[in-house]
Amino acid sequence: MAQNVYQFIDVKRIDPPKRSHSERTIEFVEIYQPMTNTQVEGQADRCLDCGNPYCEWKCPVHNYIPQWLKLANEGKIIEAAELSHKTNSLPEVCGRVCPQDRLCEGACTLDEGFGAVTIGSIEKYINDKAFEMGWRPDLSAVIKTDRRVAVIGAGPAGLACADVLVRNGVSPVVFDRYPQIGGLLTFGIPPFKLEKEVLSRRRDIFESMGIEFRLNTNVGVDVSFDSLLDEYDAVFLALGTYTPMKGGLVNEDAPGVYEALPFLIGNINNLMGWQTEHPYVSLKDKTVVVLGGGDTAMDCVRTSIRQGATKVSCAYRRDEANMPGSRKEVQNAREEGVEFLFNLQPLGIEVDSEGKVCGVKVVRTELGAPDAKGRRSPEPVAGSEQVLPADAVIIAFGFQPSPPQWLIDMGVELDSKGRVVASEQSPYALQTNQQKIFAGGDMVLGSDLVVTAIAQGRKAAEGMLDYLQV
Ligand code: FAD
Ligand code: SF4
Repeated sequence: MAQNVYQFIDVKRIDPPKRSHSERTIEFVEIYQPMTNTQVEGQADRCLDCGNPYCEWKCPVHNYIPQWLKLANEGKIIEAAELSHKTNSLPEVCGRVCPQDRLCEGACTLDEGFGAVTIGSIEKYINDKAFEMGWRPDLSAVIKTDRRVAVIGAGPAGLACADVLVRNGVSPVVFDRYPQIGGLLTFGIPPFKLEKEVLSRRRDIFESMGIEFRLNTNVGVDVSFDSLLDEYDAVFLALGTYTPMKGGLVNEDAPGVYEALPFLIGNINNLMGWQTEHPYVSLKDKTVVVLGGGDTAMDCVRTSIRQGATKVSCAYRRDEANMPGSRKEVQNAREEGVEFLFNLQPLGIEVDSEGKVCGVKVVRTELGAPDAKGRRSPEPVAGSEQVLPADAVIIAFGFQPSPPQWLIDMGVELDSKGRVVASEQSPYALQTNQQKIFAGGDMVLGSDLVVTAIAQGRKAAEGMLDYLQV
């Protein structure tokens, strides 16, 4: 039967159903429910199979999107999962956490007027379903070499690098200071976006493929970097960025002011029964103000709601159009009861007579000329100061690189912001100025995205394979 090319008009875009409002305001479980088989087939059929698939180019790992949409439409789930793993090491994660509105779906031809194909949700469906059906990557044809690579950091960049290496016969050993794999996927992103079981399933799969994990191992403390350089044929650095940006606000260290990431990690540990250095902070019955407008800020407001805060606001210094956070997550936060206060720049934390937080002093802003990235800079409006009442404040201004001393001592080149210099065009992709050392993910890009970290991990593995002449 001939394909109905007007399917995209007859069948409207649908997103996966979300859990009820009452569940979403108390429970730390993924809010999107799985799509049904029929929904996936119908939605995948909306793809126009454009000659030049913009979605594929905009996707940082260049997924073969139209091809696996076609397989999903035909019900060929195993084939679709095989194909999706050719370009992506964690497709089930990207389907959940990518800001698709800015990436693949934002570039879909149908986005203008008809509603983009629900690419992310279908990517998640294909891979979850294939795993459920018992599919696992087949490495039986891989010829093992005697080459070994140390990967430092079990976040998306490190995992993606190890995935490509092991599929090419190189044995990766992944070191991480934390007790679980995933980096920020596990110790950062809350379970209402990404349940932790997704990562434990992935760990089993990676281990069965031959990737070795040495967790609870802080390189530079428990094992020296020099010894890894001696023992392995090459090293991949994927340490992420962890130094929180400070606002330089008056009373920033007052009791009741919290850094975003420790707050999120403490909450995850409490839910999972894990131990790390970050204590659990409960914001039950508090009036919470979160400062910042990125993904981390969105995760903090939504965590506060679920903890039972009385009122949660997000104050951001630009307008909604200039927010860095994913549109989907802003919408989700709004639905869950978060109040957004735009064009407000924080000036300082207000404290009561006991020194505890009682508010945030802010000034109204107007947007000025665009900066180098095209984002308009906020300019304070004189005389427009006000105080937002708060008994807990979370600071989510982002992160900057934190290269450890051993890296600096090794002479690895850093840029003026502390990011490791490693380009995809180096003689070998993502090689640093030290020939055995490669790097990728947030520590090269600065805080970015899961999928860009995956793309870099995969690219670095290709660079290492060339370097090792595998
Ligand atoms: P990381 O994920 O940070 O992993 C680095 C790993 O290195 C960590 O496990 C760390 O323990 C380990 N490590 C560091 N130093 C050492 C050492 N000396 N020895 C051993 N191990 C070490 N992106 C999205 O695309 N979508 C989202 O929804 C999203 N939400 C986010 C929410 C939050 C709260 C945060 C903070 C970030 C979010 N991001 C999101 C960004 C995304 O998580 C990161 O860009 C991505 O995880 C970077 O991957 P990475 O592998 O470079 O580093
Ligand atoms: Fe879209 Fe991310 Fe999947 Fe690429 S990896 S297709 S950007 S959801």
